[in-house]
Amino acid sequence: MISPTTQSEDTKTAKWTVVISRGQSRNPAKRSIEQSIADVASQLDGASVIVVPHLYDLPKGGESLEKLAAIEGNLIVVSWIFPRAAHWVLDRNGIRGQFIPVAIGDAEEDEDSDEATEEKSASDVDRVAELYPRPEREIHCIDLKVEESLDRFTDEIRRLITGDEPAESIAANDTSLPIVGGRIVQVDETTARRWYPVIDFSRCTNCMECIDFCLFGVYGVDGAETILVEQPDNCRKGCPACSRVCPENAIIFPQHKAPAIAGAEVGGSEGFKIDLSKLFGAPDSGDDAIATAARERDEQLLLAGRDAVGIDEQLQRRQQDMKSQPKDDLDRLIDSLDELDL
Ligand code: SF4
Ligand code: SF4
Repeated sequence: MISPTTQSEDTKTAKWTVVISRGQSRNPAKRSIEQSIADVASQLDGASVIVVPHLYDLPKGGESLEKLAAIEGNLIVVSWIFPRAAHWVLDRNGIRGQFIPVAIGDAEEDEDSDEATEEKSASDVDRVAELYPRPEREIHCIDLKVEESLDRFTDEIRRLITGDEPAESIAANDTSLPIVGGRIVQVDETTARRWYPVIDFSRCTNCMECIDFCLFGVYGVDGAETILVEQPDNCRKGCPACSRVCPENAIIFPQHKAPAIAGAEVGGSEGFKIDLSKLFGAPDSGDDAIATAARERDEQLLLAGRDAVGIDEQLQRRQQDMKSQPKDDLDRLIDSLDELDL
């Protein structure tokens, strides 16, 4: 069983630390998976395990972020949100490194992601993460939503830490195995559900569209005039409007139902914007991304007792820009679906 404890030296300095971000719900099936992964990972030599509440909900200055920030060495982050989302939530809290999404049981996807990175760095547009490189330590992110068997997760974690291919899996409930790795640290911090944008700085070009668009004072800039989410809790719950106007698809709302907005790897690195709401049930289908964003922003302004502003000049320009962009394969797919009148 995981038991609450203080952070050990093992956890701070282990070569690998497995960070388990618990789901927001009390779903016993999810709890069981988290517990089993913690049990198995803690038995691996050279590894320590820390279990924290849902990453996205962690409050600034809280115990979880303090402990995570103190960890040296590589991280394997296991969570119920998309890998991009998990990585950039950590990054915004100063826990930084090189993003490595883990494709469970599919080595080919790793190669694809390398190609995407090469394509992106060949682009002549400066991305914030290129201007301000992150430390070399590795942050591998595993998405528990992919619904693979528990063994697939634990085999992959073992492969990363020990380099061994899975000859035979360690049974999660086999307590006879000696604990040779670090201890399991569990942080029982009280958290509340939050809603705020997370910026993917490997895509962001610091264009400031988002700070101009948001009328709720969420965005700001740091001392180097780089965009940041300054007042996250000013964001209006459930609204993803600014993610639709970002030209680089760099704004993530990890809990949004549309995968593209929640941080799935669709499009993006080439800078094009895909409004998956067209495919997956827009509230009023037919609106483009900019019109949808303007409507969502107006809804929030009215709810806050303020006046709606509609599509202003800045948004009109963005709308024109998007219309003049060359069509990509997914746009063509959307067009053909429209033609089929599904
Ligand atoms: S709109 Fe997107 S690319 Fe531009 S500053 Fe905001 S997050 Fe960065
Ligand atoms: S979703 Fe709305 S309130 Fe929240 S940051 Fe974006 S524009 Fe601002």
